[in-house]
Amino acid sequence: MNNVKNTIYLDNNATTQIAPEVAEEMLPYLGMFYANPSSIYTIGQEARAALESAREKLAGLIGAHADEIVFTSCGSESDNTAIFSAVELNPGKRHIVSTRVEHHAVLNYLKYLQGKGYRVTYLDVDSLGSIDTGAFNHALTDDTAIATVMYANNETGVIFPIEELCVIAREKGILFHTDAVQAAGKIAIDVSKEAIDMLSISGHKLHAPKGIGALYVKRGVPFHPLLIGGHQEMGRRAGTENLASIIGLGKACELAGTEIENDTSSIQALRDKLEKNLLGKCPDARLNGNSNNRLPNTTNISFEHVDGEAILLMLDFHGICASSGSACATGSPEPSHVLSAIGVPPTFIHGSIRFSLSRYTTEADVDSVIEVMPGIIKRLRELSPVGRDKFCAAR
Ligand code: PLP
Repeated sequence: MNNVKNTIYLDNNATTQIAPEVAEEMLPYLGMFYANPSSIYTIGQEARAALESAREKLAGLIGAHADEIVFTSCGSESDNTAIFSAVELNPGKRHIVSTRVEHHAVLNYLKYLQGKGYRVTYLDVDSLGSIDTGAFNHALTDDTAIATVMYANNETGVIFPIEELCVIAREKGILFHTDAVQAAGKIAIDVSKEAIDMLSISGHKLHAPKGIGALYVKRGVPFHPLLIGGHQEMGRRAGTENLASIIGLGKACELAGTEIENDTSSIQALRDKLEKNLLGKCPDARLNGNSNNRLPNTTNISFEHVDGEAILLMLDFHGICASSGSACATGSPEPSHVLSAIGVPPTFIHGSIRFSLSRYTTEADVDSVIEVMPGIIKRLRELSPVGRDKFCAAR
């Protein structure tokens, strides 16, 4: 395995490094503190106390009550559970409202429900990647079981007008869920001030381990579990709790809560430096998404007439990890559904790269990317017939 210390990791929307403080807090629970939190004897009750303390820390990050937090195995499970619960409890309602740019954890679950006869309205986004609150209002009907709209987009970082959307849904008596997997820990969220009924979180996006997530369910919101079995999580999610990872998620939320302001300004400054230089030094590049309303750590840039996967491979050669804005990287020739929905022009869409930073990103990391990227783009354009004709003859 390559030494990750030699890697410049700018793919933090894909997953994050476990914070050292988180790993330290988890270690005892991977060793001697192995008791089942449902056991009645002393060490079981100690495990229970640690679990409840983690629940309080997570609740604290988003302004929730501890009893409103259900631990799950990941963001995808949280998303599936929220939608499943709503449709299960409203058998007479056969319509769901969402957007075209959700993560596949939502989109593919909705597709599955469409196969079962549900109607789904997928709201369009504008050229800046956001949705129109009027269109959202218009889409909600008496037949709508739930509206699900992400807090912030994983590819562009664009933040959605959740405060307004949840009020509109509340006024119409429709359940509102938001996938906050990318937003939690990066921007302040306060569910106590918002009419959000359910909200999804994933541990590995905020410096906790993979395989742990949570679903916030507002007090009084009717809920039906996805996993049925034991009485864990107050009957809301069966299965013996993943205690070590829950402890890690609690610690990660505590850290995010205390560091969110510092992190935000320093991460944003580095992101802005990276973005400004890439757009300035690489001709025919464009920024995707609303530059004024984004997660502070994310930039998504398209380079005309270049293949995103080729860019990624050349970045990898320099030890730089980023992500292609196109699904090509996962073996599909289709461009990203998010960038397609925004209307990124065809000559740009395949050359889209997402850089996502974290509190561990250094200025030296960013400077390295700024140094190598113009050469990579120039080289790839020289190799591509279209790029060669367009860029190399003229310059
Ligand atoms: N929702 C969003 C917006 C995401 O970015 C992701 C992961 O990339 C998920 C959901 C799924 O989270 P998990 O990997 O924890 O299942």
